[in-house]
Amino acid sequence: MVAELISVGTELLLGNIVNTNASFLAEQCAGLGLSLYFQTVVGDNPGRLEQTLRLALSRADVVILTGGLGPTKDDLTKELVADLTGRPLVEHEHTREQIQRFFDTRKVNADQITENNWKQALIPDGATVVDNANGTAPGLIVPHKEQYIILLPGPPKEMEPMFLEGVAPFLRALEPAVIYSKTVRVCGMGESRVETMIADLVNAQDNPTIATYAKTGCVDMRVTASASSEQEAKQLVRPVVCELQNRFGTHVYSTDEKETLEEAVVSMLRDRGLTVSTAESCTGGLLAARLVNVSGASQVFAEGYITYSNEAKTKLLGVPQDVLRQFGAVSEQTARAMAFGAAAAGSDASVAITGIAGPLGGSDAKPVGTVFIACSVNGSVSVQEYHFDGNREKIRDYSAVSALTLLRNCILDGE
Ligand code: ATP
Repeated sequence: MVAELISVGTELLLGNIVNTNASFLAEQCAGLGLSLYFQTVVGDNPGRLEQTLRLALSRADVVILTGGLGPTKDDLTKELVADLTGRPLVEHEHTREQIQRFFDTRKVNADQITENNWKQALIPDGATVVDNANGTAPGLIVPHKEQYIILLPGPPKEMEPMFLEGVAPFLRALEPAVIYSKTVRVCGMGESRVETMIADLVNAQDNPTIATYAKTGCVDMRVTASASSEQEAKQLVRPVVCELQNRFGTHVYSTDEKETLEEAVVSMLRDRGLTVSTAESCTGGLLAARLVNVSGASQVFAEGYITYSNEAKTKLLGVPQDVLRQFGAVSEQTARAMAFGAAAAGSDASVAITGIAGPLGGSDAKPVGTVFIACSVNGSVSVQEYHFDGNREKIRDYSAVSALTLLRNCILDGE
């Protein structure tokens, strides 16, 4: 079943407000197993709204509109749908009572309720009403030939519960499919490489589908199947997940959508009985914070140093002044010496980060975004040079994620 979204409102069109309704509804529709090929934003203009609605009806089974249901003159969605479907507006007693109750609970006197509020109790004849617990405009499910036009108010705090409680069950009953997803999470490669590696699967996909989502330094591939039972949906998903695991090998750090990279790293260390220390310059503790964010980190996290200045690198980690003078604080040699110093207290593994997060401090030889990360596992040290794009925050984030990825790789390489 194909759904299409229309967001109505000139303020959306002009960018005065962000269209959060569309992202909420798109996610919900995908979760219900509906295909979504188009979504449109249209201003409060009857001609253009009609044009948009007719186009949507030419290619979708269900068209969901949000906004333009209020009591004011520019709220014209309902009137237009009534005209287009040939369903005259009729008073809906239950909705009138709901509106009255809404004002009663807010202690609004009858003389303060303007006449246009009662306009909201008019509904296209034969439409199903979805009650609005947080406002006065009811939602409407309007049958049209073999299709449905669903109208919801614009304010998200009204629209979202109405969709979840009134519309989702209706859509689920129209197409009683079970949706099942499994996410394969990979680190250490960019989205374009991931997409290239699965291009053949994506081109041939039908059910299940594979969607990729890039996060900082990681990529998720969500495999989603729709079937008449959960067991059947799982059976469809399983071979595709296995294929992705084969293709991405050790880059796969989890197949649990909720497991973060740091959680995967902490359990990896715990499973192997390893402890880790960190030494950070440009990330200023971001890596340690991510590790410590994981419950149970105390079993694996020994100590963390933030050595921002050269003096601190020498005083706390024993980085030789010669190394700093000869190669600079941002260098392979300094990163290596930092990792060595962090492990000296006795942890099995250590990770060190030194780099230029910018915007100042870059040079031709070492531009902003240059970062060296060193990792030592049981005395064997490996150093990587990275060149990250983005602002200071992004570069620091990328550095912390890359350090986790490098630690993971070094542990796996040592096995
Ligand atoms: P109302 O009864 O409040 O007039 P309505 O159904 O007529 O509701 P609109 O007038 O179109 O809705 O929008 C009311 C408010 O709802 C907007 O000012 C905005 O704050 C919010 N809103 C509308 N559409 C969206 C959207 N697509 N995404 C996020 N917020 C929205």
